[in-house]
Amino acid sequence: MIVEQIWTANSYRNFNYLIACPETGDALAIDPLDHQKCLSVAKDKGWNITQVVNTHEHGDHTGGNKQVIAATGAKLLAHANAKGTIPGIDRSLGAGDIIKVGKTVELESLDTPGHTMSHVCLLSHSDTPALFCGDTLFNAGAGNCHGGGHPAELYQTFTGQLAVLPDETLVYPGHEYIANNLEFTLDREPGNAAAKTLLADVANQNPDNPLVSTLAIEKEVNTFFRLHNPSVMARLRESFPDLPVELDAKTVFVKLRELRNDW
Ligand SMILES: [Zn+2]
Ligand SMILES: [Zn+2]
Repeated sequence: MIVEQIWTANSYRNFNYLIACPETGDALAIDPLDHQKCLSVAKDKGWNITQVVNTHEHGDHTGGNKQVIAATGAKLLAHANAKGTIPGIDRSLGAGDIIKVGKTVELESLDTPGHTMSHVCLLSHSDTPALFCGDTLFNAGAGNCHGGGHPAELYQTFTGQLAVLPDETLVYPGHEYIANNLEFTLDREPGNAAAKTLLADVANQNPDNPLVSTLAIEKEVNTFFRLHNPSVMARLRESFPDLPVELDAKTVFVKLRELRNDW
């Protein structure tokens, strides 16, 4: 499996992806908003884009579908419940569906509600697993829920589906927000040495050649995976003095998401 992470350099800071089979040159495009860049990378590599996957229905993820499909004849795949919001879906995706690319690549669709209620992540069945997580999980952060999502569902997705993946899983998010997210982590957990070191490393990173994190790294630096951390819980009580004495992980997650909205 070959992964090409494409930096769009737009104001939303989107990443697009091409995933190719090295044997056949077939490729799948994830959220190819910057259709010109995606098409030109595929051309340079000699790949044929045969499928487009939208992780979810927001315009900064679907906005390049038309042009990529017109140029390549690719099929469009998206969450089954996105039928009403994404035009032209050829294949509906649900939990556990397998998407094949060429002869060698297999991607599993995960049904990951929270950012929106019709969001899929793709998990590669490769020696080192890779997770293409759209706007669900970001480097050191989590997607917001203003555009049709729910924090409680996002919590379920994080703890029930993402946190249980192997530590070495590579994380490929839909946007580049890492420095800002690490600053939020440090605001919640000022003593987090791993987050401090990583922030120094990535503060001036070139998004054309970004850090690719792993779930192990995320568990160290992403507040939304650190729901039992004493500092995270203590700092939360400063913002929300009425929290119950016994704090459950779901409340911590939902309150962190609320704080992040205005941060
Ligand atoms: Zn979105
Ligand atoms: Zn987005």
